[in-house]
Amino acid sequence: MRKTFTCIVCPNGCEITVEQEGEAYRVSGESCPRGKTYVLQEMTDPQRTIATSVRVFGGEADLCSVRLTRPIPKVRIMDAVREIHARVLKAPVRAGDVVIAGILGTDSDVIATKDVAAAEAYSMEGTSAGFTFENILPFILAILLIFLIPMLMRRYGLEWSDVTRMLFGRLGKRDYAEAARQKKREPWQRNGRSQDLSSLVSTLMIFARRTKAGLVYPGTVQHGGRTANLVAFVVTKSEVIGINCFGFGGTITEQQGKWNQHMNGSDREIPDPVAGNAAQHAIARAVMDENGMKDVPLRVVAVFTSQTVSVKTEHEAEVFDTKGLLAHLQHCMAEPEGSLDPAAVSRQLNGCVVRIRPKSGS
Ligand code: SF4
Repeated sequence: MRKTFTCIVCPNGCEITVEQEGEAYRVSGESCPRGKTYVLQEMTDPQRTIATSVRVFGGEADLCSVRLTRPIPKVRIMDAVREIHARVLKAPVRAGDVVIAGILGTDSDVIATKDVAAAEAYSMEGTSAGFTFENILPFILAILLIFLIPMLMRRYGLEWSDVTRMLFGRLGKRDYAEAARQKKREPWQRNGRSQDLSSLVSTLMIFARRTKAGLVYPGTVQHGGRTANLVAFVVTKSEVIGINCFGFGGTITEQQGKWNQHMNGSDREIPDPVAGNAAQHAIARAVMDENGMKDVPLRVVAVFTSQTVSVKTEHEAEVFDTKGLLAHLQHCMAEPEGSLDPAAVSRQLNGCVVRIRPKSGS
C-alpha cells in the first residue's frame, strides 16, 4: 500500500510518501526526521488536537476559547468536541484555567486560552449582596408604579378601566385628555358654617357704615305664633330688605320650580328659597304693618352663605351668594330715588325684633 501525506508539522508542507510492505514502512520525501515521525504516526495511530469554545455564564463574553494540551486519537475528536460543548463555565475565567482534566480519559487537558471577566451585574465582589443598580431597577419601577398610578388616578378622576385602556387599548392622547377633563375630580365642598354667617354679618355692618344704610341685626320677628328668622334687615333710602340665609354649599340650580344642590358628586333637592322668602316676607310684613311701617316697602331676599357656593337661577333679584348680595345692596343704595330715613326706620324695626336668649346650660 502506498500513501502520500502533506506534512503539517511545520510550514514547509513537504509531500511525504509512505509505502507499506507487510509491517514495514518505507518513507520518502521528508526533509527532516519530524516529517517521518508524523507520517508513521498517521499510518499507525493518527492524532489530532482541537481548539474550540465553551459557553460562559455571567461573564462579559458568552464564550471562552479553549484548546487541548496534547493531541488525542483522531477517531475520538468528535466525542471530545461534544463533551467540551456540554460544559458551561462560570465567570470569571482566566487563560490557562483547566476546563476539563484528562478529557475522555486521555492525558490531554482542555484549557482556557483567554480571560473572561465577570459581568458587573453578576459580580458578587465589592458588594455586600450583589445589589447593583440593574438588579434593583425593576423593583424601583414597580414601587413607583404602585404609588404613581393610584395618585394620578385620584388627581384626574380615572378608573382602572381608563388606565387599562391607556396602557393597552386604543385610547389615544386626545381621548385621554378628554376623558381626564370629563372625569376631573370636583373640588371638595362643604355647606355653610356659623363662621360664614358671622362673616356675612360683618360684611353687612361694614357696608352699612360706609353707605349710611340702616342695619338691624338679628332680624328675627314673630307674628301670630309664626317666626321669621331673618339674619338682618338692611334699610335703604327706598325700602327694607330682609336677609334670609341658607347654608347649602356646592352648586345650586333651579329647574322647573325645583331647587337642586350638587355637591361632592351627589345631588339632592333643597327647599325653594323663593318660596321661603315669601313665607318670611308675610310674617315680617305683618309685624311692620302693626308697628307703624305700613308705607315702608319690604322685600326679602335669599342668600347662600357658603364661601364656595355657586348659584344659578333666573331669580337674580331674589337669590344670591354673598358677593352677589353685596353688589345688589350697593346698587340699591346708589339709587337716587327714595324718601326713607334709614336711621329712623332702623330704630322702629329694632323695637320689633325678638331677642332670643340661649337656654341656660346650652
Ligand atoms: S518533513 Fe520536516 S521540514 Fe518537511 S514539513 Fe515535515 S517537519 Fe517540516
